[in-house]
Formats: sequence, structure tokens, C-alpha cells
Amino acid sequence: MKHLIMAFFLSTFFVGCKSASTPVAVASVATSAFSADSAFSYVASQVAFGPRIPGSKAHLDCSVYLKNTLAKFADSVIMQPFSARSWDGKTLQGVNIIASFNPSATGRILLCAHWDSRPYADNENNTSLHRSPIDGANDGASGVAVLLEVARVLSTSKGVDIVLFDLEDSGKPRFEVSQYGDEKSWCLGSQYWASHPHTNRISFGILLDMVGVAGARFMQEGTSLYYAADVLDKVWATAATMGYGQFFVYEKAGAIIDDHLFINQIAGIPTIDIISLDGSTRSGFFKHWHTLQDNISNIDKSSLKMVGDVVLEVVGK
Ligand SMILES: [Zn+2]
Repeated sequence: MKHLIMAFFLSTFFVGCKSASTPVAVASVATSAFSADSAFSYVASQVAFGPRIPGSKAHLDCSVYLKNTLAKFADSVIMQPFSARSWDGKTLQGVNIIASFNPSATGRILLCAHWDSRPYADNENNTSLHRSPIDGANDGASGVAVLLEVARVLSTSKGVDIVLFDLEDSGKPRFEVSQYGDEKSWCLGSQYWASHPHTNRISFGILLDMVGVAGARFMQEGTSLYYAADVLDKVWATAATMGYGQFFVYEKAGAIIDDHLFINQIAGIPTIDIISLDGSTRSGFFKHWHTLQDNISNIDKSSLKMVGDVVLEVVGK
């Protein structure tokens, strides 16, 4: 997905101005154990299953793959199955995948992404393609891949929960008459988790979405600013000190419906979205958003590495 809730925050996309106090990036000191090649391979592995849409073999097989991969690195992995009603009244079966590190620790950090892919290529110019499911290499798999690689190299005594949400991208398609009319038709997995969290000891959260595009531009998104400005400040300042300031820009963007909205609203956990935005496209998202070109050939491993480095630094490695 995700679209912009213009009315909700009475904000207009990209009206934010650059801060006069934009920090200047210092020399890069980004040297974490995070491997760009490994992260890229995690994108490729997910995409190789095919579109991860509910009820498909690809969806089932990928859930097993993600569970088994996380089980190699985490102290525990829980599968959280749920059913949810789709925009067209069908019952969808989803599963959130929850990996915990240092399960007894308090003050936990939530790291999350969505692992499903969109059932509709509804941003294609060719309307005959609108009902084709997409690979979701960037929109979905990129965030998950960064978190799998973070899990692989994580070495901390802090409590960390990696949650991979299902059914984020099953929202009402553009070709329906009431386009994007129902915000709750998106993010079904995070809505369920936020009502049934596996722990009540999380201090703050970071959501990753669309983090694999070349020349990523992570703006300060409105929902994150509204609910979790402190977290945003911390993450952006960390990126600046690591030499990534030209990518994590101090520029405000309108509010977006993404998993973090429901985590903030329902669970009350201050959670931000690291998401690349692009003011030159009609959608405001990356060029291939919700098209069949959102595939592995358009994934930039250096963007994955940058986001992974920042997340690890914030967590404390
Ligand atoms: Zn999407």
C-alpha cells in the first residue's frame, strides 16, 4: 500500500520544508557486521517463492522459510495465525511471525516489516494488469530482508522483538469504485497484533517498508512525527552521525497508512516508519510501487545495508 491520510492530519504531501538546522553528515563510520550481499539474498529468497498472497502455496512456503530462518538466530519464534475480513468481504487467513531476543528483558524494541505482497498491480498504466499479484521485492521483501540480516548479526543483551506482519497489502484496490476508501482494509496483520501483542514490555518500535530502492530518500513521515517524534529524532540523528544524512533527510512528509499507524493507535507503542518517498511520482512512493516491476532487478543492496546499519546502531548491536 499505503496511501496518505490527507484529511487525518490535515497535511499535504511534501509541503514540509527543510529544517534550517539540518545536520551535516560527518565522515562515514558505518561499520556494522550487516552484510549487503546477505540482505540482498534474503530479498531474492522471498521473491523466488512468487507473490506472497493469502491462500497461495508461495504464501505458505514463505511463512515456513521465514520461521525457519529466524529460528536459527532468535531465542524464540512464535507463529501468530489470525483470520481477517478483506475489503470484499472474504475471510483471509494470515500469520504474523514473531522472533524474540532476550525474551525476559524489559524495555524492548520492536522491529517490524510486512512479509506479504500486494495481490494487485493496481498502479500499472495498463489496466488489464491490475489484478495481477506483484513480487513486492521492495514493497514487503526489502524490509523483511533487512530484519533477517539484523537477526543474523544481532548481538545484544537488550530485548528485541522482530515481528513480520501479514496482510499489510491486501487493501482495497484502485480499480474499485471507492478508491482506497477503507483505511482499515490495509494492515490486517498489524491490526491483529496490536490488539493481541505477544508482550506488553515494548518501549518503542521501528517499521521498515520500501527500503531497497536505489537512492533511497527517507523523509520524516507524518504518522511517525505525530505519534513518535522522539523515536524519529533518535533514528535520524543516528543516521546522520553514521554518514547517512543525505538519505535520512530532515524533510517532513504527509501521514501514511502503514503498519505503524495501528501499532501507535491500538497498542499505544510509539513507532516510526522508515520508508523511502519520492516526490516525483504520482503516488509519492517509488517508481515501481504496486507494479509488476517491483522485482529483484530494482533492489539496491547498498540501501538495505544503510538501513540495517542504522537499525543495529539504534538497537545497540
Ligand atoms: Zn504496498
